[in-house]
Amino acid sequence: MKPWRQYLDEFKSFSERILSLEYAQALIHWDMNTGAPKKGMGEKAKMLGVLGGESVKLLTSPKMNELLEILEAHKNSLEPNDFHHVKHTRKKYDQMMKIPQKEYEEYLSLCAESNQVWEEAKTTSNFKLFSPYLKKIIETLRKFIIYRGYQSGNPYNTLLDDYEEGMTVEKLDLFFNTLRERIVPLVHKIREKSQPECSFLDESYPIVKQKEFSNFIAKHIGYDFDAGMIKESMHPFTLGFGPNDVRITTHYHEKNLMSAIFSTIHECGHAIYEQQISQNLDGTLLAEGTSMGIHESQSRMFENLFGRSLDFWKPIYSKLQESFSVLSNFSLEQFYKGINLTKPSLIRIEADELTYSLHVMVRYDLEKALFSGSCEVDDLPELWNKKMEEYLGVVPENDAVGVLQDVHWGSGLFGYFPSYALGNAYASQFFTAMNREFSVFDELEKGDFTKIKEWLKTHIHQYGKTKRPEELLIGATGEGLNPNYFAEYLENKFTSLYNL
Ligand code: ZN
Repeated sequence: MKPWRQYLDEFKSFSERILSLEYAQALIHWDMNTGAPKKGMGEKAKMLGVLGGESVKLLTSPKMNELLEILEAHKNSLEPNDFHHVKHTRKKYDQMMKIPQKEYEEYLSLCAESNQVWEEAKTTSNFKLFSPYLKKIIETLRKFIIYRGYQSGNPYNTLLDDYEEGMTVEKLDLFFNTLRERIVPLVHKIREKSQPECSFLDESYPIVKQKEFSNFIAKHIGYDFDAGMIKESMHPFTLGFGPNDVRITTHYHEKNLMSAIFSTIHECGHAIYEQQISQNLDGTLLAEGTSMGIHESQSRMFENLFGRSLDFWKPIYSKLQESFSVLSNFSLEQFYKGINLTKPSLIRIEADELTYSLHVMVRYDLEKALFSGSCEVDDLPELWNKKMEEYLGVVPENDAVGVLQDVHWGSGLFGYFPSYALGNAYASQFFTAMNREFSVFDELEKGDFTKIKEWLKTHIHQYGKTKRPEELLIGATGEGLNPNYFAEYLENKFTSLYNL
């Protein structure tokens, strides 16, 4: 028999093949979203299917299982990164193997079909058209949860764990209860106050100038252009190929300068996370963010805690005014109030910093109820509207701008939404911990991101996927998820902004 270390080399080269196939898929995805010609889309979609099939075949091959078993038997002799690599691969292997392949393929087709029906249902605001598909998706997911070893507790926990390892209904309930008790009343209080003068939000801004400023701001906050690039797509996103190639997209609308600026900052937050992953993890399946929630905490920290603060703009507001002369009529103070305007609205993706997490809470309540069996698909539209009224004080006039607005459920993505709100909570908690070591606002005011990036690298970024979200949080902040930091941050900020 070969010495076991040779199996480690074999495992690594197997993983490299999987990673190469995944990167090839990601490159095609990047190309399709950033300007590939329309006529070639069908062929590319086919290629994605083939490459996806090949990487799953490698991951679930008997050879992979054999390698994992040998390495697991020697786990005490493995280097820490190799140990995590094996553990992570085993988790992925088990996830794929526990569900019968035929049923999984049927589920993928169901989701593809349901996605199309959802689009039509949304266009015509017809929930009844979509509900039979949603029922089938939920039924299938319930079956999968059992295949995956569900024994007790809330079955929804299995889905939460897919996006945020270790997350449970019990923990999330504490988090959302805090929002319900502290943020909902704040939103209702602000509704009675007058809004600041911020007509600059509706002005026209030349797109060429917007691009220039986007590039400037990405550089300003520390995005490394030697390990990345910025292109345009309808919906901005970040795509990482290990720490040395992390690309982002943003978008430009003449009548919406803020959307370009804050999308760029948001995606740079995601990208800086991956650019700062340890080089030792490059070329392994661990060279990515540890979870959806932690990833979102980095983008939201840059977008909101930094980007929507007064100190952030102090050193660069004059540059913004030079680029867009219309802003010379607005003081920095007015600009700051304008970019923090809060107003309850119907659509999650257009929501502001204060109200955003309440949109997520509506979805969390409903997902939890669906999987615990306390509500049925047919009850969703009515429950949705009731919760919107309760949390935000607005009621959709139809389901297109209500329960049908998001693509997620029609694509089988349940358990995904909470990570958006968790990102906000994590961000405030990290921010508080960073402030115990140095004044973050002083650094922002200097326009110097060196210390901030170093702190994030040391406590979060370098680890890639080698630490679980909670481990990372405790390591960086000294405690597990504590929603009070986020609630306190919002209370302080908006009480002062709106003179409450
Ligand atoms: Zn994001």
